Amino acid sequence: SAEKLDKSKTLFLRKKHVGPSCKIFFSQDPIKIVKAKGQYMYDENGQRYLDCINNVAHVGHCHPDVVQAGAEQMGTLNTNARFLHDNLVLYAQRLQATLPPALSVCYFVNSGSEANDLALRLARNFTGHDDIITLENAYHGHVSSLIDISPYKHHQLPDAELRPSVHVVSAAPGGVHRSRISSNLLHRLQVQMCTEAGTERTTPDPAAAYADDVRELIDRAHEKGRKIAAFIAESLQSCGGQVVPPAGYFQQVAAHLRRAGALVIADEVQLQGADFVPDIVTMGKPIGKRTPVSCVVTTAEVAQAFASSGMEYFNTVRPEPPPPPGSALIRASALVQIPQFGGNPVSCAIGLAVLDVIGKEDLQGNAVRVGRRLSDLLEALKRKHPLIGDVRGRGLFIGVELVKDRLTLTPATAEAQEVIYKLKEEKILLSADGPHRNVLKFKPPMCFTPEDAELVAAKLDPVLTELEEVLGLKPLDVPNVGKDRSKRTLSDERQQHHDGIGAPHPASAPKRIRKETNSRITPAAD
Ligand code: PMP
Repeated sequence: SAEKLDKSKTLFLRKKHVGPSCKIFFSQDPIKIVKAKGQYMYDENGQRYLDCINNVAHVGHCHPDVVQAGAEQMGTLNTNARFLHDNLVLYAQRLQATLPPALSVCYFVNSGSEANDLALRLARNFTGHDDIITLENAYHGHVSSLIDISPYKHHQLPDAELRPSVHVVSAAPGGVHRSRISSNLLHRLQVQMCTEAGTERTTPDPAAAYADDVRELIDRAHEKGRKIAAFIAESLQSCGGQVVPPAGYFQQVAAHLRRAGALVIADEVQLQGADFVPDIVTMGKPIGKRTPVSCVVTTAEVAQAFASSGMEYFNTVRPEPPPPPGSALIRASALVQIPQFGGNPVSCAIGLAVLDVIGKEDLQGNAVRVGRRLSDLLEALKRKHPLIGDVRGRGLFIGVELVKDRLTLTPATAEAQEVIYKLKEEKILLSADGPHRNVLKFKPPMCFTPEDAELVAAKLDPVLTELEEVLGLKPLDVPNVGKDRSKRTLSDERQQHHDGIGAPHPASAPKRIRKETNSRITPAAD
């Protein structure tokens, strides 16, 4: 059996030896998972759960091709990236082929955080500037340099202060602008459409409106004598609550940044069209399907400037203790004991196998098709359930925002937690995120099927009804759905173009959210 200890003993040892900040899913009744396959996870009793949490297991849990590639390479050689090895260069070549030609130089590291930290170093080195522009509610990683630029994390510290070198700008939801976002920004918007209470407005060019915020922020920083090194953004804000920026946003932001002599860092790849090429792209864990492999890709120019600084770059999973002067022996033994360097042959073999599986099984096509089915089902639930304020996302990366009132957009945080626990009883694993933890996050492995999507929607429906009864919310008039939808032109557009409809919250969220005391709050996943 894959179980080595009784569940209660596992829990006891975890509490005793693992830092209490490392939260566990379903803390009131944690699940012990002993194996996983495809889109399913299994507990110690053999109970199967449908996994809507682990997009990091990208091509499906324990995919045989990936397991075989990793195991074979592990049985042959695993060493650091300072020896020539074919896997490293072949993987770099394959990753580069998915990017615009200008992004030609790779640095392999072990985690998303390491990748983003290196990206900041590259940008600061290239520009000679220090300051970073980041988006509201962004999350870029857990190391100190990234906590500094991750406002998502600051919500958890009521008195967190930003460093003077960090500038936060409104996140840019796609297409819809909420009046509570910022009165000065609204003032500039050409309002095209208002819903019932005027809380939701669209602008013909939200990309320009939000990009102007960045331009103004750069101007204000310059007035204070500060210089911007980089703008960093997730291409689709994840922890921030599945926020899709409007088409054209990054292009316009990049133009403002370049005028200021700054670089654009895309945290993970999802480029907005051929006319937008960031200076640096960072890719995280899913590329290596949970094995420690991540990558920073940049231009030859940025890479050359970094090399010219004279400081060599290499990494290990754990920092190597500095060897005593002249002790080649100790240094060599450290290498042997800690062989997991970024770009090691095993990680690269796994990364290559992941790319092969994505192609062979058309997982990108599957994500588009099944994602569309899931979005359609969730949109249908939205037409019935007042608790659903918004459905947004791309492919199989979808957020369902729960609100107690569609006009005031009061976050239904406790209700989101209830949904998660109720679905767990139905053997479906889901998490909630966003600044108010009221956005249900669907991010299953890419082998998710239409039947899985149907099952999730069918199980979600009665749970929402039950919660609405408790809240005293009446189901919406389903036959009038057409009428309702005719107002939501952008939502319709999203369905056609998979472009994401407006996210109500990011900028409308209070600067500091109330510290959650509810111990049932599940941690966000990855
Ligand atoms: N950037 C983004 C957008 C992420 O979602 C994450 C992980 N959740 C990170 C960076 C950090 O990656 P890691 O946990 O591998 O350090």
